[in-house]
Amino acid sequence: MFFKSPLELYIDITAKCNLHCNFCMREWEPYLKHKDNPMLINSLKEIIVKYDIPNIIITGGEPFLSWKLLPFVKFLKENGKRVHITTNGTLANRNNLAQLKKYGIDLIQVSIHGYNGQLNDKIMGKTGSFRKILNTLELLQEFQIPFSTKTTITKDNIKYFHKLYELLKNYSLKQMIFTEVFYIGKAVYGNLKPTYNDLLEMKEKIDGLNDERINFQSETLSFYENHFPTKCTIGDEYTTSLEILADGTVLPCAYSVVFDEHLNIFDKNFRDIWGELSIYKKYLTLPDDCRDCSLKETCLGGCPARRKVFGTKRDPMCLIKEVSR
Ligand code: SF4
Ligand code: SF4
Repeated sequence: MFFKSPLELYIDITAKCNLHCNFCMREWEPYLKHKDNPMLINSLKEIIVKYDIPNIIITGGEPFLSWKLLPFVKFLKENGKRVHITTNGTLANRNNLAQLKKYGIDLIQVSIHGYNGQLNDKIMGKTGSFRKILNTLELLQEFQIPFSTKTTITKDNIKYFHKLYELLKNYSLKQMIFTEVFYIGKAVYGNLKPTYNDLLEMKEKIDGLNDERINFQSETLSFYENHFPTKCTIGDEYTTSLEILADGTVLPCAYSVVFDEHLNIFDKNFRDIWGELSIYKKYLTLPDDCRDCSLKETCLGGCPARRKVFGTKRDPMCLIKEVSR
């Protein structure tokens, strides 16, 4: 590895969640076996300090379900780390946000997937979620905690994204992130992908808004722009980021949970795990179906994990019907 340790850790402080979003990655077979290990945070505290890891993103599951969230953030901030929390926004309240403000939390990212209760709560799988999320946004604004929103764009909400924008635009948020649903987790089976035309229309509307806080990511539009699905960096020597699941499993990316390597901080020294990540490079093999493609050197067949999930020879995001370029 080029760096002596990662610059960024994404930590599932708990695998549990109080909601059931219809695209959820964590409610998916390959993740379900990674249950909470009660020693996770103690071990990670040691690792983060020993290896001087500067950026920590606490995620889940739903982080506010864990009683360890507040003391962990306190510890991290006392040790000079930059700390973000990603949350579904339904469990934050005046007390826990006041504590996080006191500790100096750097950013809280709140999920919101619809412009009203009917749409949002249908996607998030629990009535009343929308009202609680709006309450959290109000509190974040009141406490002057830096915050952003994250919306997963599916076929169900893409037509209404501008209404959500109208709702969010007056908040003092840092960013509004809109991300096309990935082919992973429950979304694999849910037929949730928006159409290319709807995505294009959304992009044109966003461009017209001229609001620099909007960050729109669409793998479908990227494919049409670049003519290949993605360039996989799994096992790359220049990796700077790692995911740690609630049972201590270390992954180079969220999708790689489908592979069998499963390095774990409770089985191995963290330095060794960091050094061994290059074992994932073995999945960077060019599928036979891509042999005649002029972009094969750049693309290498797209995402190997997605190929495995779908059981296809070529990345299913590669929308080229006949490879003869
Ligand atoms: S396996 Fe897929 S998700 Fe993971 S780094 Fe490669 S392309 Fe990205
Ligand atoms: S055919 Fe294969 S190498 Fe070419 S763009 Fe598609 S996935 Fe990538």
